[in-house]
Amino acid sequence: MNVEQAYKEANALLEGHFLLASGNHSNRYLQSAKVLEYPKKAAELTDALAVMIREAGIEVETVCAPALGGVLAGYELARSLDVRSIFVEKDGKGGMELRRGFEIAQGEKVIICEDIITTGSSALKAAKAIEELGGNVVAFASLANRGFCHREGSDIKAKPECQLPSDVPFFSLGDFTFEIYTPEECPMCKSGESEAVKPGSKG
Ligand code: ZN
Repeated sequence: MNVEQAYKEANALLEGHFLLASGNHSNRYLQSAKVLEYPKKAAELTDALAVMIREAGIEVETVCAPALGGVLAGYELARSLDVRSIFVEKDGKGGMELRRGFEIAQGEKVIICEDIITTGSSALKAAKAIEELGGNVVAFASLANRGFCHREGSDIKAKPECQLPSDVPFFSLGDFTFEIYTPEECPMCKSGESEAVKPGSKG
C-alpha cells in the first residue's frame, strides 16, 4: 500500500503555499477527507491498516473514532476488522464523551482510530473517555501520520509534541513529514511569488 500515492490520486495531498491553523506556513497539506470520498478506496486503505493490526497480534472488539474527523476512517477500519464501530464527541469542556446510547463493557478491547494523527490530542481525549468507562485501549490507528508520533515499523521517533502514550502501539499506513516554517522564515514568502492561503479556500 503506497499511502502517499493514494493521497495524491485522491487530490488529498495538496501542494502549494499554505497557512496552517498554527499560523505557520507549509508547501504541502493533507486534506484527509478527500481520500475517503470513494468508499472502495477508503476500504483499500483500512484493509491495509487492518492487516498491520492483525499481524501484530492485537485483539480488537471495537473501533472508536473521535468525531468528526475520524468517523469515516474508524467506520471503515471496523468493517475491515469485522468489529463494532462507535465514536466519541466533544463534551464542551475540552474533552470527549460517548453519547447516542453507545456503551462500553468492562475490559472491552478498543482501538482508537483517526484519519490523520498530528500530535494525537483528539485521539488521546477519545482514549480517556473510553478508559473512564472501563474500556481497554489496546492501540491507536490512523491512515496517515504527520511524523510527530512514532508508528509501528517506522524509523521516525516520537517528538515532544506527541501526546500518544508510548506504551500503546500506534499503527499508521505512512509518515507525512512536511517542512513547516514560521512566516518570517518561509522561503516561499521570501521569494515573493505567492501568498500563503488557508487550505480549502481555493480550488
Ligand atoms: Zn509563506
